[in-house]
Amino acid sequence: MLEIERFILGPIQTNSYLIADPSAQKTVVIDPAWEGSQIVKEARKRGWTMTAIWLTHAHFDHIGGVAGVVDEIPPGKRGSLPIGLHQEDMEIWKNKGGAPMFGMELDPGPQPNLLFEHGQSLSLGSLRFEVRFAPGHTPGHVMFYCSEEEVLFSGDVLFQGGIGRTDLPGGNHRNLLHSIQTQVLSLPDSTRVYSGHGPPTTVGRERERNPFL
Ligand SMILES: [Zn+2]
Ligand SMILES: [Zn+2]
Repeated sequence: MLEIERFILGPIQTNSYLIADPSAQKTVVIDPAWEGSQIVKEARKRGWTMTAIWLTHAHFDHIGGVAGVVDEIPPGKRGSLPIGLHQEDMEIWKNKGGAPMFGMELDPGPQPNLLFEHGQSLSLGSLRFEVRFAPGHTPGHVMFYCSEEEVLFSGDVLFQGGIGRTDLPGGNHRNLLHSIQTQVLSLPDSTRVYSGHGPPTTVGRERERNPFL
């Protein structure tokens, strides 16, 4: 069983997801947007051990809480906490996710030490997730798909009734549409989609009603 806890955090109301396999008492945080300590405290309250940080992409509103999460990890274990990001988003990460462009200061935390690749398998307790490369919103955007639970964490690729913006550095509208076609709409209609902003949706609902597709 996959448990999903959604937090809406930071200046752009970004969704952060604490996902867990409660039977293994293990948790991963997807896109700690802001206030990382709050996310870790919730995990601790549930008795879950933080095993990794998975980043869909490096925009500041998705990485702003990484430093706060890492600060809550006991010093001896901090260095071994995997922080995953795709190589193609490292440049955005080095530019602090674009925060200075929006007149903001940001501590991006430790450099990602796990480089995601398309098709890579990630584990959370007994659950398996597949990394799906979906460039367009950023050059190195990835999504996380769990087939046994029929759940997709889509970051800023697809929203309920919307798609990711492509006017920021590295954005490409054609690539985004191609990613949605091949990496999202290829999934079963019943797949639940948890995106980077806004409420959850399903592949079927977006296939039918999303005005951008
Ligand atoms: Zn973004
Ligand atoms: Zn975002």
